[in-house]
Amino acid sequence: MKNPVYVGKQPKSGDHDYDPEWDYRLSSFRQEEALAVVGFLDLFWRDTGLTDPTVYAVTGLGRSIAKYVAGTASQPVIVVSVTKVRSLAKRHGLTSVLETTLAHEMGHAYLEANGVDPEDHNESLVEDAGAALLRSFDTKVFIGVLRHHRGMQ
Ligand SMILES: [Zn+2]
Repeated sequence: MKNPVYVGKQPKSGDHDYDPEWDYRLSSFRQEEALAVVGFLDLFWRDTGLTDPTVYAVTGLGRSIAKYVAGTASQPVIVVSVTKVRSLAKRHGLTSVLETTLAHEMGHAYLEANGVDPEDHNESLVEDAGAALLRSFDTKVFIGVLRHHRGMQ
């Protein structure tokens, strides 16, 4: 099996036609990375309403390890710097790095899906929601934290 460029639903099947090649240099996930991503995304199927997220392996995200692409909430697109993940994984473990990263970015997706403009996202609240999710592995807890965001519908 070839190392995948993205994990999740086939791109362009949602309500937007965003193509990460417009903005990023695509890379590919190693098998163990792809499995960790797919396993974690499964968690969001219930409760969040975030259908069919697609997570792309990219390089060159500047200082960021990952980014939720604003405007893609109908089928969330997240780009992940595989070079940064691999470097952080040496110290913190691959699963931990990917889960921490995706929990945070899915927090942004959830807020935008529920009416909060990405420009107004409170980073520390998103970070708290991600941390709460990783402690509980319960998306209701994750949503409970995000519900405190100003402008949330
Ligand atoms: Zn953020």
